[in-house]
Amino acid sequence: MSPYVTSSDGVAALLAAVSDGLRMFEPPAPLTLSQWADEYLYLSPESSAMPGKFLTSNAEYQRGIMDAITDPRYQRIVLMMGSQLGKTQIQLATIGYFSHWDPAPILVIQASVDEAENFSKNRVAKMIRDTPALSSIFPSPRTRDSGNTLDNKEFPGGVLVMRGANAPAGLASRPIRVLLPDEVDRYPKSAGTEGDPVDLAEKRTSNFHNKKIVLASTPGIKGDSRIEEGFGESDQRRYFVPCPHCEEMQVLEWRRLKYEYDEEDERDEEGNRKYRLKRWYYICVNGCVIEERSKFFMIAKGEWRATAKPMDERVVGFHLNALYSPFVEWRDLILEWLKARHNIERQKTFINTRLAQTWEIRGEKANQTAIEARREHYGDKLPAGVLMLTCGADVQKDRIEVSVAGWGLDSEVWLVEHRKLYGDPSLPIEHGDSPWRMLDTFLRKRYPHILGPTLHIVTTLVDSGNGNHTKRVYEFTGARESRGIHACKGVSGFGIPLISSANRKGVNKALLFGVGVDTGKDLIYSSLRVEQQGPGFVHFPLTEDFDSEYFRQLAAEEKVSEVVNGKMVSAYVQKYERNEALDCLNYAAAARDVANPNFGAIKANLTRRAEEMNPAETATPEPARAPAQVARPLMPAKPLQSASNPFSNSFINSWRR
Ligand SMILES: [Zn+2]
Repeated sequence: MSPYVTSSDGVAALLAAVSDGLRMFEPPAPLTLSQWADEYLYLSPESSAMPGKFLTSNAEYQRGIMDAITDPRYQRIVLMMGSQLGKTQIQLATIGYFSHWDPAPILVIQASVDEAENFSKNRVAKMIRDTPALSSIFPSPRTRDSGNTLDNKEFPGGVLVMRGANAPAGLASRPIRVLLPDEVDRYPKSAGTEGDPVDLAEKRTSNFHNKKIVLASTPGIKGDSRIEEGFGESDQRRYFVPCPHCEEMQVLEWRRLKYEYDEEDERDEEGNRKYRLKRWYYICVNGCVIEERSKFFMIAKGEWRATAKPMDERVVGFHLNALYSPFVEWRDLILEWLKARHNIERQKTFINTRLAQTWEIRGEKANQTAIEARREHYGDKLPAGVLMLTCGADVQKDRIEVSVAGWGLDSEVWLVEHRKLYGDPSLPIEHGDSPWRMLDTFLRKRYPHILGPTLHIVTTLVDSGNGNHTKRVYEFTGARESRGIHACKGVSGFGIPLISSANRKGVNKALLFGVGVDTGKDLIYSSLRVEQQGPGFVHFPLTEDFDSEYFRQLAAEEKVSEVVNGKMVSAYVQKYERNEALDCLNYAAAARDVANPNFGAIKANLTRRAEEMNPAETATPEPARAPAQVARPLMPAKPLQSASNPFSNSFINSWRR
């Protein structure tokens, strides 16, 4: 009963009662979605970082998005957002609003039937349970009839239907005023044989002049992204926040986040070094240094600004990356990125779900002519950047091919030699014509370094998987383990670490490393795209080892990717019948990971020793001993954790400097 009714005011009481009775037939009061949510919505403890009463101001950017959804000027609202930014909460609030305040038939589409059921059970049911305004209008959870099932919940004036994009029957059944297609970049191209699931569902809304379509997703693959296409047709709003120092309004961009870190000797479960962040900060467009603690203030003072003219005034779009998230710290994003650096699949996930950008499948292939053209004169000594040498060997029917690579800081690499050692690898190792004898001699070579010392090859991997020479490979490598010479075998598949396993094989129990060859090819081809000398760059010497045939072989393969049911499926396809150069470099790179030294420490150690020896000439450090004398793991029961290193390491890095 209304609080202003008194016993002496019968007329008012009557009017109030009549008014209450009529309320559901009146147009709803003008309450925006954020106002409704601040008034009525409760977040469930099972799924929210901030359970309890919903507050739009907890993440101020939500207000502009939510109020656009209930703004009568807009029909189509596109949310291209990263994860952990509150997208699901906004969708739940929309469901709440259009069931409680402005009842309408609502259709929620998830990528699959399973996900729709999960959304119903774990998100919608919990919201109804914890939000009194909704538990009073939806049937009690114990009611079991057609009006209250997992995919269908009736309420006065409407119905909430939740379906999977993979089941066409569920998408084309009845008129819908509020359509909420979620994670649209993971939808199948076609719902069964019925065509695009979003188009199919949108046809249901055609009878409503006041329809709402809230298209939402973290982006997927460039050129195949429904959400990017939708955002491109919108007014492309971005969230501008003020710099706390100069007050300039700007969009938060990943490339402006800077960081300094130490590499730890400890490794994670995949063998990557752990990082300890020392400092991180954001650089404003005017150069001010912004600390993470200013983030909340900046977001609270921010505003959405359109950055494009939409094709249709009724279409509004919002883009938001994880730098804005109140639930994820910048430092965690940086650590996530550092971990993703050596894994293409992880990089894709980071770009999609954190930066809210599509992933471009840049044909993972090499431009043979361009790479060949950048060969350079090293002189007669190893360049200063080389800190360690490794070798990869590929065993063919009539020869063994070898590549020697010199590794520097940040995966910069100098190819040193590529040789073909002719002879029948099935011949006994000590036989006069055996290529194994030649390989043995070759691997004893010493290379003069421009800083003075000579370097030897620290680790060699010899492929045992090709042809019928596996036993010979074990025989050869097993006897030379103390020289860092081991057998390896390619393991196909993406997302597999470059060094995926270590076992002992053959009669002499030779060490055999599994090499994630597709991962290796990803890394090689992405490195070959680096055009500027420095981190990740691949150098080739201007010698006859590196002729056109070498580069043809290096560029022999191409990654072919296609999207099948919203998932990227990739494979390397051989475009040229010979690919030994590519394989050799792949094994040499894997050999580097087997040795896995702390390059920063080697470099720092060299510089220090050079300064001790030559205090006047700090610019051209003269190391006292060969930098290649790093600790080498020999029996990796846990091969990736064993490269203990006595040096401490500290160097500064930043995103694509
Ligand atoms: Zn500033």
